[in-house]
Amino acid sequence: MTLSFDLTTEGARDALRAGATQPEKQSLIGLTRAELGEALVASGTVPERQAKMRAQQLWHWMYVRGVSDFAGMFNISKDLRAELDKHFTVARPEIVEEQISADGTRKWLFRFPPRGAGRPVEIETVYIPEEGRGTLCISSQVGCTLTCSFCHTGTQKLVRNLTAEEILAQLLTARDRLGDFPDRDTPDGAIVPAEGRKVSNIVMMGMGEPLYNFEAVKKALLIASDGDGLSLSKRRITLSTSGVVPEIFRTGEEIGVMLAISLHATNDDLRDLLVPINKKYPLKDLIAACRAYPGLSNAKRITFEYVMLKDVNDSIEDAKGLIKLLKGIPAKINLIPFNPWPGTNYQCSDWETIEKFADYINNAGYASPIRTPRGRDILAACGQLKSDSERMRKVDRLALEAMMIAGHGEA
Ligand code: SAH
Ligand code: SF4
Repeated sequence: MTLSFDLTTEGARDALRAGATQPEKQSLIGLTRAELGEALVASGTVPERQAKMRAQQLWHWMYVRGVSDFAGMFNISKDLRAELDKHFTVARPEIVEEQISADGTRKWLFRFPPRGAGRPVEIETVYIPEEGRGTLCISSQVGCTLTCSFCHTGTQKLVRNLTAEEILAQLLTARDRLGDFPDRDTPDGAIVPAEGRKVSNIVMMGMGEPLYNFEAVKKALLIASDGDGLSLSKRRITLSTSGVVPEIFRTGEEIGVMLAISLHATNDDLRDLLVPINKKYPLKDLIAACRAYPGLSNAKRITFEYVMLKDVNDSIEDAKGLIKLLKGIPAKINLIPFNPWPGTNYQCSDWETIEKFADYINNAGYASPIRTPRGRDILAACGQLKSDSERMRKVDRLALEAMMIAGHGEA
């Protein structure tokens, strides 16, 4: 059974939209502490000498208590709350749709306002509850400029990068909806881990290539892992990249989260076809960047994701190639059964083939869990995300792509 709340009707949306972000007010979500203090002073709301203290107070309300309205910040005077509300917002984005799969997986379709010129955009976020953990799969871009041939998101042209606020909003809103803040109730019948936090892990594996939106992703993940706020351990945050080699070292150095590489092939000819960014950053460079990843050790391994495509990359020869390629790198190999989507020419490998492949890798000494497909009934599984967001005008898109190429030029 799939549950789907269609929130496209006015009435149904009102409840969730209560306080949805007003475009004219600046959001305080996603600012660093210093930026938060500066914004308060610049607005004339808070005198300079109080900036640090007020920033700390707001930080606690926003990220520990999870309030989405200044009215709920009880240790701040009524007058100051009203002043804050005139200039700023801490509201959640609009939820267009929430779907709940038979296996408890949830998928939200969020709508964010236009930033500058353009139209509102829509992105998807997925929650995957398991026995001892709850993982939130977060998007970093609307669509993706890369065109991995087996990925649904890749068929959607990039509309724009998400801001740090929008990246964090996915986490905050998911925690709202799951009752994962102090003194909140979990919805009746929700499937969540039996103990501990409902969202215990995050993976940057939703729509988009996080390393093509480095600054916003960095900002959001540093806030998500801040010990006085959302407080997620960096070991429970994984960033997945298709292989943007020049940003891999910075990811370890400046963000310090766990790294996952979408490998999918063990020779350049095949990887060029499956993950076209390989033409720019071939396997030799990618593997060298992995070996140099800061903090890499047996306790902090890199996850290599490998999608199982029937008769494409699933032979024992491929498994041998994989072991050879990763020799000496502290690694986990995550085999992902291909999740089909309308219009794809690929098929998922047979179960028997996947098990043989996994056994081979296991015998070579690697943990090789097969990722159980989750939420397939609501197109929430890996690579199935694709919102119907409005396309950016072609000229804007080309300009943005040119900017990205400039920022990520040949190493
Ligand atoms: N852009 C980043 C993160 C998002 S994709 C990246 O490519 O790493 C998250 C993972 O899902 C990647 O490993 C991606 O290759 C994989 N994936 C994409 N489409 C898939 C599909 N149809 N079936 C299974 N996995 C898929
Ligand atoms: Fe983009 Fe990742 Fe999909 Fe490739 S697999 S198209 S990089 S989202």
